[in-house]
Amino acid sequence: MKEIYDLIIIGAGPAGMTSSIYASRANMSVLMLEKKYPGGQMLSTADIENYTGYEEISGPDLSEKMFEHSKKFGTEFAFGEISSVEIEENNIKVLNAGDKQYKAKSVIIATGTEAKLLGIPGEQEFASRGVSYCAVCDGAFFRNKEVVVIGGGDSAIEEAIYLSNIVNKVTIVHRRDELRAQKILQERAFQKSNIEFVWDSIPVEIKGERTVNSIIVKNVKTEETKEIVTNGVFIYIGMNPQTEIFKDLGILDNFGYIPTDEHLATKLPGVFVAGDARQKEIRQIVTAANDGAIAAQSAYKYCELSI
Ligand code: NAP
Repeated sequence: MKEIYDLIIIGAGPAGMTSSIYASRANMSVLMLEKKYPGGQMLSTADIENYTGYEEISGPDLSEKMFEHSKKFGTEFAFGEISSVEIEENNIKVLNAGDKQYKAKSVIIATGTEAKLLGIPGEQEFASRGVSYCAVCDGAFFRNKEVVVIGGGDSAIEEAIYLSNIVNKVTIVHRRDELRAQKILQERAFQKSNIEFVWDSIPVEIKGERTVNSIIVKNVKTEETKEIVTNGVFIYIGMNPQTEIFKDLGILDNFGYIPTDEHLATKLPGVFVAGDARQKEIRQIVTAANDGAIAAQSAYKYCELSI
């Protein structure tokens, strides 16, 4: 471990891993820290078919390829959960992770987002006992059974299609009568004979004994409630930025995302952001990777100038 790295990247999703390739290839000393496994949200994505160069690849496979690539030019990798970041007078960034402390001239925040919770009775109680946020991780437990998917965005529809190839029946519960997901995904879902839709409805309670038995949903137009018998509930209602630890740096917007300029610089010298944690409109693997390249280049220039 170096005393002071040129760059520390926090988070090993597509943004962080791409940053590491660009930065270490530019001969910077780079440490990439990750609290779970390299891959980020890709790890819970079944099929990816819109990342350039791969007509179809599973999320875990793309994660592995990116991780191998990210270490090729000398990036060091460590598991570690950062609890706070401080900036010393000489602009050295100090990252605290348990009893460890890491220091760097520059930092790229690539912490991404995490799944939003519904916050209804039964959600926590049946977590991992029928309630899931990851079809690729848990789908196989529901082979030949019936599941409910909550949400109408890209994730909900994509993962519902994946689940429909494993389970007997998927019921998508959406709070409006129109999906938010891309048209190509909508069309595929509508063509699946074992995907049904419950429109204009929100979940109010997940019920069960040892595992999930049913979900109660309420129609927001008629106020009527009904019980859907199901073995599993997959929740895909959007994401929250994982930026809580940067709150004290004063760089977050009102929603917890981090605004940047076109060089992906925050208002703090030497602190950059790449990927889904950044305040931006399009959140895709390819845009995360794009951010990673820009942020690494900006960090390189910052370190060159600050010598
Ligand atoms: P999202 O686009 O924010 O969609 C969330 C869905 O959940 C929406 O349909 C929303 O309904 C619904 N919802 C939100 N809060 C709810 C609540 N409390 N109760 C019930 N329903 C609720 O989130 P996402 O699908 O996770 O996607 C996140 C980002 O990743 C997006 O930018 C997406 O394009 C991207 N993504 C891309 C791909 C791909 O390109 N293949 C795949 C996955 C994700 P409303 O529609 O009524 O708001």
